[in-house]
Amino acid sequence: MVDKARFLIHYHEIALKGKNRRHFEQLLAQRLRDALGGDATVRLLYGRILAEVPAREAASAQERLARVFGVAYFARVETVDIDFRKIADSALRQLAQHSGSFRVSAKRANKRLPFTSPEAEREIGAHIVAARGWPVRLKGADAEVFVEFYENVAWVYTSRNRVAGPGGLPVGASGKVVVLISGGIDSPVAAWRMAKRGARPVYVHFHSYPHTSLDSLRKTVAELEILAGWHGPAKLYVVPLAAAQEAVFNNSPERYRTLLYRRFMYRIAERVAERENAAALVTGDALGQVASQTLENMDAVAKAVKMLVLRPLVGMDKNEVISQAQMIGTYQTSILPQQDCCSFLEPKRPATKSTPEQLERAESRLDVAALVDDAFSKAEIRRISVRP
Ligand code: ATP
Ligand code: MG
Repeated sequence: MVDKARFLIHYHEIALKGKNRRHFEQLLAQRLRDALGGDATVRLLYGRILAEVPAREAASAQERLARVFGVAYFARVETVDIDFRKIADSALRQLAQHSGSFRVSAKRANKRLPFTSPEAEREIGAHIVAARGWPVRLKGADAEVFVEFYENVAWVYTSRNRVAGPGGLPVGASGKVVVLISGGIDSPVAAWRMAKRGARPVYVHFHSYPHTSLDSLRKTVAELEILAGWHGPAKLYVVPLAAAQEAVFNNSPERYRTLLYRRFMYRIAERVAERENAAALVTGDALGQVASQTLENMDAVAKAVKMLVLRPLVGMDKNEVISQAQMIGTYQTSILPQQDCCSFLEPKRPATKSTPEQLERAESRLDVAALVDDAFSKAEIRRISVRP
């Protein structure tokens, strides 16, 4: 028999009631299977999930579990008979390096056991004190031994091997969104935050080739390979924007250029969303970060589409976004040099307060529908997964 490593996975149950809860649990179990791969078994138990992998895969399983949205925290556990001495021995093995105070916290999923949780805590604690003489401290102990009784076994782990997950909701719990991703710092963070809330992202990247290089596309793909390690494989639509930008450049007032490029992006992204059955567009805008991200301009741009536009970073400072990008892993890629498609022929004095009417007027000399159709029809679709 192959040696197994077992992980006990906890999720937050707040706001999970009735049918919703069942759905959440099943989806989370499926996301865990996706993340852990074919050799894993994942079982839904009483308010917990137990995942088993071949012991040789324990380290990589641990890294993957820490990136599954919906996981509050998890721990590698030892499965022990319901015998206080054996449970204490397991705790002592797991705390071999420990010195200092400790406490035991027990929970019973099996309420028919002939002892209460406090009784179990006292008995197991007494064995540990007898073996090592560590002082018991109920508040602020240096190490905590967790014992969960389930059917006829006890799962034992300690605060030392408890690992925080990202929290949130399993991907897919909240439907689909289309994320406009630029290759920069912000949009990958926006995508991550939406995925953490259970939205499955489909991505759109716009490039201005041949006016700019395809570096931004390469960066975007590299970022998505990192994001895929969190939310799983994703689809990327790669869309040429040059023709629409040329039309804007030749026919519209300079100060609106950036905003008009954006309106094209939103319209094309809305077409992607319709095809993909996605319910919202997502951007990396933060209030006041650049001229195109004032309240007035965000509104005037978004009025080009009917669809809900979400901006999960809108209230964040740049340094907050950067530290999130570092934690996610996209930061180093996102700061590599690139020619931004919107810096192409950027206005010297961009409008900071525009209205939808002004932008509509500026578009009146363009065949907007034909330009959108044309760009959308030239979209290339790529499948992105974690880089092997
Ligand atoms: P980012 O770091 O995401 O590039 P930013 O602060 O540099 O954001 P802008 O470049 O003004 O801001 O872009 C604002 C948002 O518009 C981006 O977060 C992204 O959602 C979208 N966007 C901009 N350029 C592109 C592009 N080439 N392709 C797809 N989306 C884009
Ligand atoms: Mg940018």
